[in-house]
Amino acid sequence: MSRFVQPVPPPVDPYAGDGLLRSWLERHLGPAGHAAAKGRLADLAADVAGPLRAAHADAEAHPPTLVRYDPWGARVDRIDTSAGWQAQRAAAARHAVVALPYLPDARGTWGAAARVVQHALLHLYGPESATFSCPVAMADGAAALLSLPEVDNGVRDAWLPRLISTDPAVAITSGQWMTESQGGSDLGRSSTIGRPAVDGSWRLTGEKWFCSAADAAMAVALARPEGSGRGSRVLAPFLVPRYAVDSPLAHGLAPGAPAPGVTVHRLKDKLGTRALPTAEIGLHDAYAVPLGDPAVPGLVRAMTLVVVTRVHNAAAAAGGMRRGLAYARAYADVRHVAGGALSSSPLHRATLGTLAVDAAGAFALAGHAFALLGRVEVGADPEAAAELRIVAPLAKLSTGRLAVSSASEYVESFGGAGYVEDTGVPRLLRDAQVLPIWEGTTNVLSLDVLRALTREDAGAPLLARLAAAADLARPLSPVLADTLAGAAAQLGDTITSVTADPGSPTVLAGARGLALRLAYALTTALLVEHAAWGDEQAALAARLWARRWLRHEEIAEDAHHHLDLLC
Ligand SMILES: Cc1cc2nc3c(=O)[nH]c(=O)nc-3n(C[C@H](O)[C@H](O)[C@H](O)COP(=O)(O)OP(=O)(O)OC[C@H]3O[C@@H](n4cnc5c(N)ncnc54)[C@H](O)[C@@H]3O)c2cc1C
Repeated sequence: MSRFVQPVPPPVDPYAGDGLLRSWLERHLGPAGHAAAKGRLADLAADVAGPLRAAHADAEAHPPTLVRYDPWGARVDRIDTSAGWQAQRAAAARHAVVALPYLPDARGTWGAAARVVQHALLHLYGPESATFSCPVAMADGAAALLSLPEVDNGVRDAWLPRLISTDPAVAITSGQWMTESQGGSDLGRSSTIGRPAVDGSWRLTGEKWFCSAADAAMAVALARPEGSGRGSRVLAPFLVPRYAVDSPLAHGLAPGAPAPGVTVHRLKDKLGTRALPTAEIGLHDAYAVPLGDPAVPGLVRAMTLVVVTRVHNAAAAAGGMRRGLAYARAYADVRHVAGGALSSSPLHRATLGTLAVDAAGAFALAGHAFALLGRVEVGADPEAAAELRIVAPLAKLSTGRLAVSSASEYVESFGGAGYVEDTGVPRLLRDAQVLPIWEGTTNVLSLDVLRALTREDAGAPLLARLAAAADLARPLSPVLADTLAGAAAQLGDTITSVTADPGSPTVLAGARGLALRLAYALTTALLVEHAAWGDEQAALAARLWARRWLRHEEIAEDAHHHLDLLC
């Protein structure tokens, strides 16, 4: 008897095969703008389905290693990474995954919507990047921070062109050294101290507990300027060159040696993101340059970076969900179970269809966050800034949670094969789990949303969007319109009552629930807006999303019937 070998489906084209992505671009960029982006997107999609898939597998199979000493006993603290990781690095530069929104050509072509194109690049690039999407996010955050007018021109000119270079030989990425072992969420407990040196630079001393992209050429480190006092507001962002080549203090050291005063204690042994070097790093009078005036409380400046990395996190979540869906869908076509092809099982189709609704919602939310970011950066649009203040944490927290629950289903949809390492499937779940943790856990972001609502009136732009979307929904579906209008009214009441007593234990205990309700309602509105523009898939997704997340109804039957339209 011949041995059965399961056929494996070929990789799908993530751009051509993603109708929602393409129609989203058509709407946000216009036909000419979308046409101008197509070449870039098709090139990246081809790389993703080919060489980058192989690079991704190589990087996963060969995690980074830390070499502390050279053969003669000299401390070198070198992080060796795989060829696959290097290929991902080069591809990120070549495809302008970080650079695009900063390139004058791109801003000329797409204006504020250059961020929409970048989101599409990330959507394609992230899932098969062996989490190089993390250094990409931090490099983008650092570039946004360096772009602030408060930053010294000389510092900007020295570093920004490298962060946004599309030449792999020149391009660098950045780390972001914030978390200390006594506090990640609670930055107020940070104990890294910055002291001014006579030449205008600074020296940092302290211990950083979670430093991803530890192989990057620079990092943005938070430190407390000496004498500035307690709390988190006074913490200031500093640029720390990671290697001797960029440190004026490195006399006689090899260019690739760590900058003096920067010690890599060890690499973390993590649940996922295994190709990504995450280190514990000690700073002992390490050379640093301030990003803005350290005498002016700096946490607000650092938030420029954090907003960027949070919306990248949402893009990573949505991108991973869409890719997981594509894998699971393709597998269901080639796997046979009782009754025939798995893809013809009503029950399995309902499972996939429900996941497709979640993936569509996550995509719309991440996409909206990028569109707002572009309008803030290019047009200094105050309305977009007010909305982004609350959309960034909402998008990050709700998509992070969806990504984990979806990834668990994707793994299960492969049966036992989904649990076996060399199928590549288990990684989906491991890598998803970081998304609700870093850059603010769900609870911490929920408290941030509460602050935005109670101190910055951030509910107003959201409620306005919900009301407008309810009107847009009426011709599509009166039930959908009523659901959205009802959710908006309830949220308005809740916001009024929490604003009256923001510190009460009841309000604090309910912060997560409120944030998720806001995110679900906003997602409905965004899908409705896309549906009203004329997208049939979004119209269906909006109806099913609202039933699933606002009315808490079972959507299996519709998800099964309409799977083809939903994917
Ligand atoms: C793979 C990975 C990579 C990372 N890379 C980086 C990096 O490059 N740079 C960096 O700076 N950090 C990085 N981090 C660290 C990450 O940002 C922190 O772990 C995260 O912010 C949480 O901080 P913590 O670990 O101190 O947890 P804690 O703050 O101790 O949180 C523990 C629990 O308490 C909850 N909690 C905390 N405060 C409150 C509150 N006020 N109310 C209610 N609940 C609360 C949290 O939700 C969580 O469930 C990384 C983490 C991971 C897992």
